[in-house]
Amino acid sequence: MNSHMEKPYVVGIDIGGTNSVFGVVDARGKIIAQNALKTQAYVKVENYINELSQKLLSLINSNGGGVDKIKGIGVGAPNGNYYSGTIEFAPNLPWKGVIPLAAMIEQKLGIPTALTNDANAAAVGEMTYGVARGMKDFIMITLGTGVGSGIVVNGQMVYGHDGFAGELGHVIVRHEKGRVCGCGRKGCLEAYCSATGVARTAREILSLRSDNSLLRKIPADQITSKDVYDAAVQKDAIAQEVFNYTGTVLGEALADFIAFSSPEAIVLFGGLAKSGDYIIKPIQKAIDDNVLPIYKGKTKLLVSELKDSDAAVLGASALAWELKD
Ligand SMILES: [Zn+2]
Repeated sequence: MNSHMEKPYVVGIDIGGTNSVFGVVDARGKIIAQNALKTQAYVKVENYINELSQKLLSLINSNGGGVDKIKGIGVGAPNGNYYSGTIEFAPNLPWKGVIPLAAMIEQKLGIPTALTNDANAAAVGEMTYGVARGMKDFIMITLGTGVGSGIVVNGQMVYGHDGFAGELGHVIVRHEKGRVCGCGRKGCLEAYCSATGVARTAREILSLRSDNSLLRKIPADQITSKDVYDAAVQKDAIAQEVFNYTGTVLGEALADFIAFSSPEAIVLFGGLAKSGDYIIKPIQKAIDDNVLPIYKGKTKLLVSELKDSDAAVLGASALAWELKD
C-alpha cells in the first residue's frame, strides 16, 4: 500500500521570533487546518512544547483523523540544525543555548520530526510545491527582516558538515565602509538587501540629498521598506533609486552565487521580491553585467508564487515527506 494512503498528512511548524504557525498539510500542498501561538510568551521551552503539542494534537484530531495519519512533522526555525534537530543560539528566540527541539516534539507526540532553518525550509517547500518543482539545482533567497538562503545541488539540500551551510545573507558585499550587520561583522548582503537594509538606504540617500521626496513626510527613523515601495509606485525618484541600489547590490551578489553551483534558477521570496520590476529589473541587470560569460543568460530569476502566509508552514511540512517511517 502506498504510504501516502496510510499516512496522508504531514505537519509543518514555522517558529518565528514573534509567532509560531503550524498546520496540517496534504500531499498536494494544501493546508487543511492551521493555528498559531505566541513564541515570545514562553520563556521556558518546556512550557512552549507543552502548549504547542496540545494545540497541535487538537488540530490533528479534528482535521487530520488522528496521529496515525501523520507521516511526520517538519519544523523551520532560525538557527535550526538539520543534522541534530537542534536550535542553536538563536538571537531572536526566547530560549538560549542549544535546544533539542525536534527530539522534544518527537518525545511528546510520538511522530518523527525533522528540523532545519527557515530559509532551507522555504527552499524545500519551493522544490516540493512551488516554482522550483522538478528542479535539481537552484538557490532560494528569502528577503525579509534578514536575508536567508537555501542551496539545492543535484536535488539535495546543502547542509554542510555541521548543518549550517548556506548563509549567503552574510556574504560580505562591501569591504570598504560596510554597514554593521546583525551578525556583528560589517558589509554583509543582509545589511543592504533586507527590509531594514532598504529603509537604511532610503535614510542615507535622503540625508545626502535635498531633492523632494514623498519619503520626507515620514520621520526618517520610521521609514519602512513598504513606505519605499509605496513611494516608488507613485513615481518618487528617490524611492526608485533605493530599489535600484538594492537590486544592484543583490544582483551583483547573485552573479557570484551562480559561479558557486551553476543553478538552473534563483528563487526570490519575501515582501521585497514582490515589488515587481522596481526590484527585479536592477537585479537582472546586475546579474547580466557581472556574471561569468559561461553562465550568461542560463539562470532564471524567479519569484516564489506561494502565498506569504502559507509558505513557511508548507516549507516546514515538506521536510516531513522525506522522513523515513
Ligand atoms: Zn552578517
